[in-house]
Amino acid sequence: MSYSLLELKGVGEKSLLKLRKIGIKTVEDLLFHLPIRYQDKTKITNISNTEEGKKYLLQGVVEKANIAFYKRRMLVVRVSDKTGFVRLRFFYFNKSQIENFKIGSNVRCYGEIRLSNKVKEIVHPECQFFKKNNAPILEEYLTPIYPATDGLNQNSLRKIIKQSLVLLKNKKISFPELLPKEVLKKYKLIDVNSAIFNIHNPDKNTRYEDLVSSENKNKKRLVFEELLSHQLVFKRIRSFNKTLKSFQLDNNNKPINILIEKLPFKPTKSQMTVMDEIIKDMQKITPMTRLVQGDVGSGKTLVALFGALHAISNGYQVAFMAPTEILSQQHYQSIKLMLKSFNINISLLYGGMKVKEKEVIIEDIKLGNTDLIIGTHALIQNQIKFYNLALVIIDEQHKFGVHQRMTLTSKGKNSETFPHQLILTATPIPRTLAMTLYGNLDYSVIDEMPMGRKKIDTIALSEDRRNEIFKRIILKCKEGNQVYWVCPLINESEVMECKAAISTYEELNNKLKELNVGLIHGKMKMNEKEKVMNDFRNKKIDLLVSTTIIEVGLDVPNATVMIIENSERMGLSQLHQLRGRVGRGEKKSTCILIYKTGLSELAKNRIDILRKCSDGFDIAKEDLEIRGPGEILGKKQKGDINFKIANITRDYKFIKDTKNCVDIISDKTSESLVSRWINEEIEIGKS
Ligand code: ADP
Ligand code: MG
Repeated sequence: MSYSLLELKGVGEKSLLKLRKIGIKTVEDLLFHLPIRYQDKTKITNISNTEEGKKYLLQGVVEKANIAFYKRRMLVVRVSDKTGFVRLRFFYFNKSQIENFKIGSNVRCYGEIRLSNKVKEIVHPECQFFKKNNAPILEEYLTPIYPATDGLNQNSLRKIIKQSLVLLKNKKISFPELLPKEVLKKYKLIDVNSAIFNIHNPDKNTRYEDLVSSENKNKKRLVFEELLSHQLVFKRIRSFNKTLKSFQLDNNNKPINILIEKLPFKPTKSQMTVMDEIIKDMQKITPMTRLVQGDVGSGKTLVALFGALHAISNGYQVAFMAPTEILSQQHYQSIKLMLKSFNINISLLYGGMKVKEKEVIIEDIKLGNTDLIIGTHALIQNQIKFYNLALVIIDEQHKFGVHQRMTLTSKGKNSETFPHQLILTATPIPRTLAMTLYGNLDYSVIDEMPMGRKKIDTIALSEDRRNEIFKRIILKCKEGNQVYWVCPLINESEVMECKAAISTYEELNNKLKELNVGLIHGKMKMNEKEKVMNDFRNKKIDLLVSTTIIEVGLDVPNATVMIIENSERMGLSQLHQLRGRVGRGEKKSTCILIYKTGLSELAKNRIDILRKCSDGFDIAKEDLEIRGPGEILGKKQKGDINFKIANITRDYKFIKDTKNCVDIISDKTSESLVSRWINEEIEIGKS
């Protein structure tokens, strides 16, 4: 029996719809809408006792408030208590907010302390104003914060969840125990009903530090169950995949050996091992689903090409999908060149193509005249039918959403036969994390760099040393090197990013008259981008100003200097990716990280890590510590795994334990666990 949400006070038809949107249909579902964090508003801290990077509830008097213009318009307020002062900064504000901050008024605010030129500040704090001697009462308990829900604010969510908790407490609602007794005992897990109750409603004595640790008994219990449910899904997908049929290829390596002989270099051992794994997979009757991980520059394209050549030699079609147009263009050019002595028809397909051209290509794909199709997302558009697609290669998979990946899989459906799937990624995530994210995939690692690569020198320079950087660039270019200058803007729109690149381009074009400066960004047409990239490849451009569209995959070995602006605001893994655009040939390369003056300790540490470390896996580990998996994998990855409570950074030590439990859970319990924790629409990999 489930409880209807309409029985809760404050839930009407409107909120019912909003709740439904996030998968909450019953009161039971609501209780499984778990807090993602907590705020401690139980005490006021003296401003002098606050530390950078932590959140506090502060209380003081407004001393100053004015509208300032730095790079943009903002409201800046100075609030002080007896022990010190803090600066509040608002980028979005209205008239009434300005009026609230009258000099002398009393305010209580909550937010994270940052240091800006040694001054403590909070950006967009939550504020509560009050009359002297009439301060609002403090919270008695830690305040749970729930995942955002469109149109339902935290307060209304908290109100309705509180009512459901009463039902739980009075045993009107009770969740069945799905974990076997032996598991509960072995891993010291408490019962599910108390865990749910306490996680929403931490008791008075619970300290904030306890709640954020993975050892908190309520949290541990739920995290364990959630991770286990994901493992169960993986198991299900794996056994489902085993029931599917694919194209059984032979093990004749001859074409690959011919290709290897024609290469200007010898493949690394690691590349050969992974190639073997791929060929073995494709000999099976079930579809391959293999993830190949390799650091930037480790030579993943060649490995994929081996697979493609193998499938084509067996008489089948192959689709090779890349996340950007310039990358698919690059693959098209380089693969065409590498396969030129083979009788293979290759075509390129992308969104911005002329309709007529596209139609011809699509027709050829359908008739089987094309063997290898390289392209962007355009490849998964509905009107494209394949003749006999046996292998799908997805390059830089972290840039694709789950759904895009799945569509292509079902595309190849040909009288119940599914294509093999090979996924390439440069996001070097630690193995345990990979197992959680891609537990349904087989997994190969290219753990060796081609011979002769030199370590990239990484240096950090503050923005006021721009002129020095210019001198260096001119010198480098005179020696025949080429340079990337990347202008990323974080948390801003693509349009803004393009604007930043354009204005930097204008600046550099003006100042560096002796160099040929080029510009590339996402808003340009495909043929314009293509021309710029070709000019860069052919050394007609010395310095290429760009947005982050060059982040993945590009390969111009003569480019040896990478300059990254706003580097203090970027994730380590993303910086590592960008840096990986250089150091791809035999020449020594340099990466210059430009940062704004006044770096925090944290930012300095991060730049240090990058300077010392050239291995993507090590960097990812550090990044995992600092920012968590969601951040490493980038925003676009979000759809991949959507935990209700587990946090891989914090909890990945439980993954092994949950894997060990998979086989003792009955099919029926497994089904209940999966439906308790995993929304159908995000059930990963179910293709
Ligand atoms: P990534 O793994 O980042 O996709 P690429 O496949 O683009 O790397 O390869 C990077 C560069 O290294 C390319 O120019 C490629 O031709 C070259 N390369 C690949 N394998 C080898 C090898 N075994 N020896 C030397 N160079 C190689
Ligand atoms: Mg690549």
